[in-house]
Amino acid sequence: MKYIKCGAEVFEFKPKPLFKTCSYCEERAILRPEGTSLYLCKDCFLKFCEKRVNENIIKYKMFSEGERVGVFLSGGKDSATLLAILKKLFPTQNIIGIYLNLGIRYYSEYAQSAVEELCKKLEVPLHIIDLVEREGVRIDDFVFTSFKDKVCSVCGVIKRYYFTKAVKELNLDVIATGHHLDDTLSTMLSLFFNGDFISLSRLRPVLPPLHAGQAKKVKPLFSLPELDIFHYAVLSDLPIEGCSCPHGELTPAKFWKSWLNDMLKEDKTFKFRLLSIFMKKLLPLLPKEEPEKEDGFYPCQVCGEPTPSKSHICVKCRRVSLLQKVEDKRLEWTAEEFLTYYSQNRDKILVFDVREKEDYEKGTFPSAIWVDPNLVSAEEKDFFKHFKNYRRKELIFLCYSGRLSYLFVLRLRKLGFNAYNIKNPEKLLQKID
Ligand SMILES: [Zn+2]
Ligand SMILES: [Zn+2]
Repeated sequence: MKYIKCGAEVFEFKPKPLFKTCSYCEERAILRPEGTSLYLCKDCFLKFCEKRVNENIIKYKMFSEGERVGVFLSGGKDSATLLAILKKLFPTQNIIGIYLNLGIRYYSEYAQSAVEELCKKLEVPLHIIDLVEREGVRIDDFVFTSFKDKVCSVCGVIKRYYFTKAVKELNLDVIATGHHLDDTLSTMLSLFFNGDFISLSRLRPVLPPLHAGQAKKVKPLFSLPELDIFHYAVLSDLPIEGCSCPHGELTPAKFWKSWLNDMLKEDKTFKFRLLSIFMKKLLPLLPKEEPEKEDGFYPCQVCGEPTPSKSHICVKCRRVSLLQKVEDKRLEWTAEEFLTYYSQNRDKILVFDVREKEDYEKGTFPSAIWVDPNLVSAEEKDFFKHFKNYRRKELIFLCYSGRLSYLFVLRLRKLGFNAYNIKNPEKLLQKID
């Protein structure tokens, strides 16, 4: 039972047999579902998760026979588990997997391979929307715009646009997403402390369409703890990608997720109690969203999709148009291109080696400066401090696979530095030896 991270690293999950018999059968137990006093064997654990999802779907009438259900897939464990359980519980339902490739280097391709493998294994048709094909841009390009430190918000705009488009293109009745208990609760806490009660009411497990052409949105996993979903995915041997998006940032939801897990140490049913208070006591008091007035919409002058914008150009098209003004969107050099460029521009270039120190000491690119690879996750001010004297230079990064050095490049670009990555560093590193 292993899963792949970022196309290379392999993580293994080995369930240790517990010294207990399964609460439901004679087998040896291997797992305890979070927040319960059960000990379960593999088969009973899988059935236990499926039963919970089935109860959610029936109780909240998430979809009915004959409806076309689209499942948004990310390549990660949550949406993979959702698709597997839906397919198992409703084998004759019309289910379609949807993957939006945002052209994020060292991420989107790995995620797409996992999604393709997953759909093949589960025999589910897959619809891929490729941003580079459709718009000629990738999310990474936005580091060249005024949104360089708000890439995740631009990404959110583009995702929502294409998910709405997918509903139309595929004529879907229902959209299912892999949001789980920890997502629900962490988002709830974060919205509550911001006083955002309209968004809070959107955390319902079912959101009916607000106007014609929209699909119903459902979250069949909303009451399942994240840890159980991870275990479901690895125990079922689902192809998943553990890689996280290189643009990912520390969101308030992440803070609340770790707070929730701390609370679990005091009271193992804490998450379920909180969910129950939210569903039974708070949600009924919250205002439901008003349907948008359809006469306030105009067709976008660029793409034709309806938009409430007074400029008659939708927000997606406005963001994408920012990139038309950017002539040079280069973030990477191949080793060959770099060597040619370096030989002519030596004095304005600094090369950084972000591999482990012992690898650096064994041999590196001439004049390369070693940078602790852990710096990539350092706090903003420490990260900035490390590079602030190199503002006027072109900073070139290299590591073994290109991914870690690319993370450095993105972070520096967001801070306004002129940074580039080496795309196939192995060729450069061979030259060193
Ligand atoms: Zn059992
Ligand atoms: Zn548009």
